[in-house]
Amino acid sequence: MRVLPIDPIERVTGSCYLVHIPERDLRILVDCGGYQDGPNPQQLEEAPFPFDPASIHAVLLTHAHYDHCGRLPQLVRDGFRGQVIATDETIAIAKIVLEDSLKHGNRRALAEPMARIQWRSLGKHLFACPLPIATDVVAFAQRSAHILGAVSWEIVAGLKERPAEQVRVLFSGDIGNNRTGCEVQPMLGRVMNPTGRVDVAFVESTYGGTRRPAAALDPRARRHALALELADAIDRRGPVIIPVFGIQRTQDVLWDLHLLAAEQPDLLAGVPILVDAPMALRFNAVLRDGLMRNFISPGGKVRPAWLGKHAVRELGLDPDRADHIRTASEAIGRLFGEAPGWVPGQDAPAVVEAATLVDRFQPRWARVDGARRDATVAEERPRIVLATAGSAEGGPVQSWLARWLRDPRATVLFAGYCNRGSLGATLLQVGELPPAERQRLHEPLQVAGEQIPGCEIEARIVALSGYSAHADQEGLVEWVFPVKDGVRFPVARRVVITHGESSPRRCLKEAIEARARSDSFVVDVILPQPGGDAIDARTGELVARNEVLGTAKASNLKLLQQLAALSPEDRRQLLDQLGKDGHA
Ligand SMILES: [Zn+2]
Repeated sequence: MRVLPIDPIERVTGSCYLVHIPERDLRILVDCGGYQDGPNPQQLEEAPFPFDPASIHAVLLTHAHYDHCGRLPQLVRDGFRGQVIATDETIAIAKIVLEDSLKHGNRRALAEPMARIQWRSLGKHLFACPLPIATDVVAFAQRSAHILGAVSWEIVAGLKERPAEQVRVLFSGDIGNNRTGCEVQPMLGRVMNPTGRVDVAFVESTYGGTRRPAAALDPRARRHALALELADAIDRRGPVIIPVFGIQRTQDVLWDLHLLAAEQPDLLAGVPILVDAPMALRFNAVLRDGLMRNFISPGGKVRPAWLGKHAVRELGLDPDRADHIRTASEAIGRLFGEAPGWVPGQDAPAVVEAATLVDRFQPRWARVDGARRDATVAEERPRIVLATAGSAEGGPVQSWLARWLRDPRATVLFAGYCNRGSLGATLLQVGELPPAERQRLHEPLQVAGEQIPGCEIEARIVALSGYSAHADQEGLVEWVFPVKDGVRFPVARRVVITHGESSPRRCLKEAIEARARSDSFVVDVILPQPGGDAIDARTGELVARNEVLGTAKASNLKLLQQLAALSPEDRRQLLDQLGKDGHA
């Protein structure tokens, strides 16, 4: 088995690995992600695939973030006819994410190929249960605790009767922050260990250079900081605007707000919680069903597939009792059920009075409908508003910011990472400045079509920490050196670091090597370069990139037709590009 990491190398989006099993001339992709970082993401998305999509047997999807599934429609458009294999939850979320993406740029033409994607659910083959992919090729999915439905994939090739001759490769996908003693996203279960030692492991390194302080990994510390900000904002009689991403982050913040309301009923008494995030409303239904789902563990026990024990604990219940797990999942189901639309001028629902925390944990949020958005935005009263997008680049949150950024009563709390150059990143920089320095900012910011000079911004703007869905360096190193039956072992002889910029990748390499030295393990850590060669999983030797990419049989005719229609200059550029990518 050979693996070519197509991307992301020296970047964090565009996840795609080509797995080639030469004995069967079988090609499988792990992820087929869109590009969102760097100076020219759209150009990268529109470039031809460096392999023939018709030659791909199947795609294994780790999770439904756009940078892992965004180019599936192009893959189908360009000739892929196989199945896209993922958990039920990933399939449901990917449909939401891909449909939403059609609104951006010139993706509308991708609606037709998107409708032709052949989804195949893992069904019962969840966690440590082999899923047949082709003759003598199986795959295992293990929870990676990043978002609902997210898994790492292990591919095993070779005869089951001869395990010593089998070749095993593991792809981390994005690793979440939930592990023993550190459950940042209480609703999601912990990262699962791989089934055993593999030949090569590909590990992400988004935060490979970051070591988070203990407080940033403790949901109670995060809720305490949130409560202080809310109390201060309510005192000033102004709104709290929380820019959020619709998938998982909106729900993590709603969880915290409802838990705070249940723990400290006076804090939010009379304060409405509003959600202005269309994608989040669709995700809620998937989350509600997903957190109710069970699987049979290798020991034959019925266990929640995705629901984290910590959520059960935080509701004051016992995660080892089946009836308590049921009570907790029902409470969470109610929280993410159908919410009423907000009518401007109405009173906020009262916090329910009850003896137990789980009974006080009742939904008290309302939707903001597009038709009533303007009246709702203009309403003058303390309230908490969760609105997309998380980086404030587009989405309904811009209407809220345009109205309230100039008002000293308002608070803006960023609950997620803001890309460099995004409106959110700029606002956070403004937020850090003392008032006198803000006065010197005359450069206008574009917010919902309005020009707001930095010197006019008077709202309090802060970043909330502790919501990251990505493991830091320690979490990633623990994933590389898991513990089974009390014994720590290196997950693979060779660890290939991808999905990160150059500095985090180098830092993670050093950290893995340091841990290997201290525990006397031998691990070869590899940093592939963009456009580099493939790796042979058994021998660790490099294999020429073109050999793994294969020849472009089915798409040759289409390419020739495209070439004939191009100007000589464009034709030369395309041929140069194809030469680099191995078609020529
Ligand atoms: Zn992700």
